[in-house]
Amino acid sequence: MGAGEFDLIERIRRRIIARDDVVLGIGDDAALLAVPPGMQLVVAMDTLNAGVHFPLDTRPADIGWKALAVNLSDLAAMGATPAWCTLSLSLPAADADWLDAFLDGFGALASLHGVALVGGDTTRGPLSISVTAHGFVATGAALRRDGARIGHDVWISGTPGDAAAALALLRHAPAPPAFAADAAAREALRARLDRPQPRVGLGRALGGIAHAAIDISDGLLADLGHVARASGVHIDVDLDALPASPHLANVARDWRLRWQATGGDDYELAITAPAAARAAIGALTDDDGTRFTRIGRVAAGAGVVARCDGERIEFDRLGYQHFAGAAPQR
Ligand code: ADP
Ligand code: MG
Repeated sequence: MGAGEFDLIERIRRRIIARDDVVLGIGDDAALLAVPPGMQLVVAMDTLNAGVHFPLDTRPADIGWKALAVNLSDLAAMGATPAWCTLSLSLPAADADWLDAFLDGFGALASLHGVALVGGDTTRGPLSISVTAHGFVATGAALRRDGARIGHDVWISGTPGDAAAALALLRHAPAPPAFAADAAAREALRARLDRPQPRVGLGRALGGIAHAAIDISDGLLADLGHVARASGVHIDVDLDALPASPHLANVARDWRLRWQATGGDDYELAITAPAAARAAIGALTDDDGTRFTRIGRVAAGAGVVARCDGERIEFDRLGYQHFAGAAPQR
């Protein structure tokens, strides 16, 4: 179904949720937003390009969900409460049916976290979606990559590795020769790739408990490397401690660990905190029952070392990098 740019914008405007702190939303040259007193504004932006950040056969509703999810995940990793977002859509055609399906997924996640879409841009071009997400954190309370200190524990939420396994099933990532999954497992893994759950509740609950946080978008070891560098510390990870989802139960251990340690697109949180916070962190649960598991230690030095049975283990790459020759998700 063909439509004009303004028809598309009107379709978007009809679907948004209202918030009292949106003084002026979609329809003027820019949005007017009221930041609560005593709070800092936290802003994140992520782009999804077709064939790079999602396979070309991804359903529009899943693209909508993921475009917002990856941004809410960044806010969660700062300990922020999401509030608003803007959406830049580059579309090959003014396809109203595609847009409605996209908005089903985008809107479902926005409603879940009370996020209002306050503006954006709609242009013609290759399929590409950019979202900026805005949230609040109490002044000085953000969880930063440079907050890791010697002696801290390292924790991860949930069970990383499923998104990498899903990409392997789609032949967009390396897999062991006989890797297969039944229909139910395939669907569950694909859902983990297409519908990541941003750990907003966990991130908010970490204020005053954790000191550093990052969301696992590129791969656990690569992302912990960012924390180590920013904080000027070394991080030791015990891969034996990594919890895995039941879908990876029959995968050979070396492949499972590779996906869990270096596969991206998990959108779990990796955090560091002093040992005194163990009970508090161990008690946290997300709405879906997701918990934190202690997987390592912060020490003096630099870089990240992964161990298995106490032995140091090396991977040929630590995580996903654009421009590094990795296969696009076609
Ligand atoms: P301008 O020419 O002033 O940039 P636009 O026609 O691009 O205006 O946008 C008109 C209004 O619609 C603006 O308030 C803008 O924020 C909003 N808008 C445009 N595209 C989107 C979109 N994809 N999502 C949300 N709001 C949008
Ligand atoms: Mg514009």
